Amino acid sequence: MSSSDPDIPFSNTYTHLGEAFYQSAPPAQAQQPSLLLWNDTLAEQLLLSDELRNNSDLQADYFSGSLLPEGAEPVALAYCGHQFGHLNPQLGDGRAHLLGEVLNKDGQRVDIQLKGSGRTAFSRQGDGRCALGPALREFIMSEAMFYLGVPTTRCLAVVATGEEVYREDVKPGAVVTRIAASHIRVGTFQYFAIRDDIESLNNLLDYAIERHYPQIAGSENEALAFLEAVMQKQIELVVAWMRVGFIHGVMNTDNSAISGETIDFGPCAMLGAYDPGTVYSSIDHGGRYAFGNQPTIALWNITRLAECLLPLIDKDEKQAVEKAKGVLEQFHSDFESNYFTMFANKLGFEQPQDKDIECIVELMELMKNQQMDYTQAFVALSDSLKNNIESNTSALQENSKSKEIVNKLGDWHSTWRQLLEEKHIEPSSAVDLMQKSNPVVIPRNHHVEAVLKDCEESGSTQAIKDFLLVLRSPYQSLPTTHLYQDSPDDGDKYYQTFCGT
Ligand code: AMP
Ligand code: MG
Repeated sequence: MSSSDPDIPFSNTYTHLGEAFYQSAPPAQAQQPSLLLWNDTLAEQLLLSDELRNNSDLQADYFSGSLLPEGAEPVALAYCGHQFGHLNPQLGDGRAHLLGEVLNKDGQRVDIQLKGSGRTAFSRQGDGRCALGPALREFIMSEAMFYLGVPTTRCLAVVATGEEVYREDVKPGAVVTRIAASHIRVGTFQYFAIRDDIESLNNLLDYAIERHYPQIAGSENEALAFLEAVMQKQIELVVAWMRVGFIHGVMNTDNSAISGETIDFGPCAMLGAYDPGTVYSSIDHGGRYAFGNQPTIALWNITRLAECLLPLIDKDEKQAVEKAKGVLEQFHSDFESNYFTMFANKLGFEQPQDKDIECIVELMELMKNQQMDYTQAFVALSDSLKNNIESNTSALQENSKSKEIVNKLGDWHSTWRQLLEEKHIEPSSAVDLMQKSNPVVIPRNHHVEAVLKDCEESGSTQAIKDFLLVLRSPYQSLPTTHLYQDSPDDGDKYYQTFCGT
């Protein structure tokens, strides 16, 4: 790269959609920016300049909003959304600034957005700020999700601002830089639909197709094809969440990205003991966003998207509704087939038949009744197979937890082994598939809290970095992985998360 190249090769397209889509807004200057976390693998992927990658002062300045990089056009995006089922007609980026887009190493267009960077035209009563804890938490969780193989936005940096923010008490402030395939949400479509702005809606659809679903451009009914494509991505996303035990916690339509990435990590958490009714968010009183309710909510959100698209699907409203219904009616069967295939993979086989599904359902009931740890249970199963292959049984004997889990499963374990035999699946290939489908480590809630507390008390991010090292290898044990695999004594029964970002 020559010295005249910009530090960040911005190329902005979203603002070309017109002023209805955003408000120009300069980020606030931070009092005393200091870099806490930097994601250099991601920086390289984004083709940021070597100069920037090697200069932490410049990183702190750019990614706190204190210095605007050349080519950045900071804007706050307009959107609305259903929050806990209730429509809020005007949300928008109240504390986030989209600096612009870059084409990454793979030629994909991604957004670079600051969050916690001050008030905008959409701030309503909010202060435009973000507390340090939630910023660090988003970095940890999104990085873990990425390496778990779940579609997700990522974090490039966390910069402390040197300022105080006022939440339930006084907290240090921070800016987190988010990288997303885009920030178009179901709520972005809702924003124009409820304003009857069909022209903007149409432009947004064209833009979203070109950016995220180019394969459907030119199809007979683009709006309908788009609905179907977004629905499939949401199905894949929720199935991926459920594979690793992720609970988003606040699946409002404004937190549902059209790209199919996990976005907005507010009160998210990881499932401890298996129970589909699990809710950790302190504000989710009715369990709307419980672990097992996520598919239902994904369909609910996609149905809101369908409503927005009706005028673009067919000029005749009745016809439009019929066509949209035709797509939405596919949700259940498509979801189920994805979901049970995912569980079959977790158990070492592909393409589940009816009998296999019974076996899966039976396992889930056992796990729920015995309050088994979701992650540990599947690791125990693959350990048990592996042990059988390696005549040497030391691995399992050493891991008494695994043994205990397998014992608890009793007859089910033999039924499963029989099933693999009937399918003529070599134990070694079953183990292979299981090890790719079942993480040995996840960002367990109590460990996430512990490293955040450590950082708050010591001012050092070392504990977070040590944890991240392990989280970046979730399917393979590293020498320190065992430090993060334990479940808390209460199985996270009393764990609570807060939105207070
Ligand atoms: P979230 O809960 O982060 O998904 O945010 C929901 C809405 O509230 C979005 O429109 C945010 O921009 C806005 N919001 C959240 N926190 C703040 C804040 N501290 N200041 C201004 N707006 C905020
Ligand atoms: Mg949000």
